[in-house]
Amino acid sequence: MDILDKNHDNIEVNVTTCKVVSRYALEAIAKDGLEPTPQVYAVYYERILGNNPELNREFDKIAAEGGMTQPMCVLLCNKYIFVNNEIEIIKNVDEVLNKEISKMLNMLAANAEENDKFGDRLSDFSGKLKGSNSIEFLREAVASIAEDTRKIMVQNKQLQQELDSASEQLAVARSDFNKAHRKAQVDGLTELWNRSYFDQESVRLVDESRQSQMPLSLLMIDIDHFKKFNDTHGHIVGDQVLRLVARTLVENLKGKDVIARYGGEEFVIILPDTPLHSAERVAEVLRTSLATKKITKRGANVVLGTVTISLGVAELSKQEDVLSFIARADTALYKAKQLGRNRAVCAVEKMEN
Ligand code: GH3
Ligand code: MG
Ligand code: MG
Repeated sequence: MDILDKNHDNIEVNVTTCKVVSRYALEAIAKDGLEPTPQVYAVYYERILGNNPELNREFDKIAAEGGMTQPMCVLLCNKYIFVNNEIEIIKNVDEVLNKEISKMLNMLAANAEENDKFGDRLSDFSGKLKGSNSIEFLREAVASIAEDTRKIMVQNKQLQQELDSASEQLAVARSDFNKAHRKAQVDGLTELWNRSYFDQESVRLVDESRQSQMPLSLLMIDIDHFKKFNDTHGHIVGDQVLRLVARTLVENLKGKDVIARYGGEEFVIILPDTPLHSAERVAEVLRTSLATKKITKRGANVVLGTVTISLGVAELSKQEDVLSFIARADTALYKAKQLGRNRAVCAVEKMEN
């Protein structure tokens, strides 16, 4: 009874919180003189909840520079709260695909029926022909066959046109689908895989490694003192650095490896068929490759300095799940930070239970 009451209280609190957030959001929208469209509302609501610091930071910057506008809200919504939209697009495209496919199947079936009827009429005619020598009958029969043939030809032409247009629509829908699907899996800033793709792929690769009994390693990577870099040079240069780090990772890795942006300035790499000592070598290559790159200010020939990364390296242990695998790599990364940064640290193997 006690537990039930407590749960009930929690639900009450959540509902009340939603109402309060919703009211604040609507008040703020009205105060900024905006229309409470779904996208505007979503951005203000998310901002008050504070779950998305990057959204809040950009929001505040825009507000400070001249005030929030309707189009800026749409941009923020697409940038930070877009995931559900992508899923909607995928669902819509999926529906279009299914509709087009069933339309084509129906058209093919209808045409087969017409062609069958035509065939039946032809054999009927040839049956009658055998038993008749009347010129009148022959004249009528030839005229009727000519009419049927014309109709079938018109129908076939129509069908061909409809099939052509349906297959064009299918190609467009398929390409939209592929684009939306990819966008939902890729990080917009760095063009690496995003966190949601990594979450799926890591589970799949752990399963695959168990079955094939091939080693699997993971690198957790975090940029050193990135906050200071951002504070000194600004977020635009910070974003440039994130893209540089991403490029450095891609340049130095093989096709099989999965490279993802794990969070703000954190990256993660899964290395299939790779034991710990090889993963450690890869980590060193990545670290030294980045450390030797000079960051220059765009346009001007001014060197701003270099950035370094710290890395945690782990190899999947027997009977370990994905979460424990990631947690061990993360602990190793934390050690690398403690030991002075700009280094790679290998995780200790998970003890058997
Ligand atoms: P440490 O060496 O311990 O990792 O220090 P740090 O300053 O890198 O770590 P901290 O977690 O304190 O700061 C991370 C900073 O990364 C905060 C934020 O300014 C920056 N950051 C996160 N995401 C982005 C982004 O998308 N763009 C830019 N420009 N900066 C980002
Ligand atoms: Mg960090
Ligand atoms: Mg950092």
